[in-house]
Amino acid sequence: MTETLDVTTCVIGAGPVGATLATTLAAAGLPTAVLDRAPLPPMELPDFDGRAYAIARTSQRLLDAAGIWARLPGAPQPIHRILVRDSRPGARPSRLGLDFDAAEVAEGQPFGWMVEARALRLALNAALPGQPKLHAFAPATARVTRRPAGVEVQVEGGPLIRARLVVGAEGRQSPLRAAAGIGVTQWDYGQIGMVGAFAHERPHQGAALEMFLPNGPFAQLPLAGPGHFGTAEMPHASAYVWSERTALARRFLALDDDRFGAELARRLGGHLGRIRPIGRRWSYPLSALWAQRFTDLRLALVGDAAHGIHPIAGQGLNLGFRDVAALAEVVIEAVSAGEDPGTPTVLGRYQARARPDAMLMLGATHALERLFSNNIAPVRLARRLGIAAVNHMPGLKRAFAERAMGVKPGQAGLLGGQGLMRLG
Ligand SMILES: Cc1cc2nc3c(=O)[nH]c(=O)nc-3n(C[C@H](O)[C@H](O)[C@H](O)COP(=O)(O)OP(=O)(O)OC[C@H]3O[C@@H](n4cnc5c(N)ncnc54)[C@H](O)[C@@H]3O)c2cc1C
Repeated sequence: MTETLDVTTCVIGAGPVGATLATTLAAAGLPTAVLDRAPLPPMELPDFDGRAYAIARTSQRLLDAAGIWARLPGAPQPIHRILVRDSRPGARPSRLGLDFDAAEVAEGQPFGWMVEARALRLALNAALPGQPKLHAFAPATARVTRRPAGVEVQVEGGPLIRARLVVGAEGRQSPLRAAAGIGVTQWDYGQIGMVGAFAHERPHQGAALEMFLPNGPFAQLPLAGPGHFGTAEMPHASAYVWSERTALARRFLALDDDRFGAELARRLGGHLGRIRPIGRRWSYPLSALWAQRFTDLRLALVGDAAHGIHPIAGQGLNLGFRDVAALAEVVIEAVSAGEDPGTPTVLGRYQARARPDAMLMLGATHALERLFSNNIAPVRLARRLGIAAVNHMPGLKRAFAERAMGVKPGQAGLLGGQGLMRLG
């Protein structure tokens, strides 16, 4: 006979967003299932792999409340300064720039932290089995049937999971979104995002550099260290996120490490001294994605299944964590009030909280990308002057800094650091 498992929520996809949601709900005391088609242990890459996330302060509070932050192996690198510059490859970055110093605009608190993708995966994999209310299946495939009365998830070769709500957290190609007939609007940037890390000679002092180059933005983000790639000459490490027009990016990706490193150095300028690429190079075609709805019958979409944005501001995962906080709060409040968390009324509350936030971020990153990715001289001058002007407007500067940290005036709940409501 098929084993039956009754849970409040079944999350499909155990990427960073799905795994964080499942852990948060289970930590609040709600029976939860999570399933991924990929096995979890190999997601723990065996070594430093060069990919890292900029985690905003609000996301850190969510990860802390879910017990994930404490499980990170090693201390993440705090970001104390953010420097914004308009530049061209091989040229010195314009002196008309925007400098955010945490001591000045964030009461000395870091703007965020750089967390290696591998470290976050290790913490998530450690948190998943640590929850008595959480059932994780991976690798696993399942058939999902949604009905007005509830959801059934038949795990192949495993139990029948009965849930009040199923969550699509399977990333950009979300099969649950497609099965629900939720259309998407997509925008191809004609760029490839190249991602990786490099060791360098001089310390980064916790500073992140965002440079707007004619073909796309280039970011240098401070890392805690180069691991075993470190040498006496180059004991420091940073990550790069380099967006470049597709045809050019393909040419750069085909270069050997020395020549690729020279191209990185041309864009960086000399402030970090000599540099050397370390770990693997990763590349992603860049596009924006917007789901027409975040909900359907007993279904909620979170993370990249609901929206995908340009990495220009390093906010994609942070936006997914905002969905997690919104959905977790709505579901926990509903259950504590004796409501069924899968009803259209409750799901409507989630959509009302998450969608305007995501729309704002999608719009802002899209506008930034369009404004800065062109090389027309008057536009270049205007934006340099604009950047420099903002640098002298403390109120506006603080507003930008708060956006980078994810903080909004009066921010409450999980993102505001109020911790998790625990039921039962
Ligand atoms: C170049 C680049 C740089 C970036 N840098 C940053 C940054 O600095 N900061 C930041 O906040 N964000 C960044 N992002 C965005 C970030 O990587 C994504 O927003 C994030 O990975 C989305 O997480 P997710 O869990 O929603 O989806 P995913 O990471 O795509 O995870 C989806 C999961 O679902 C599983 N799955 C898929 N299909 C199925 C199925 N049918 N059944 C079961 N499981 C399934 C997959 O195996 C996977 O585990 C960057 C993105 C790019 C492209």
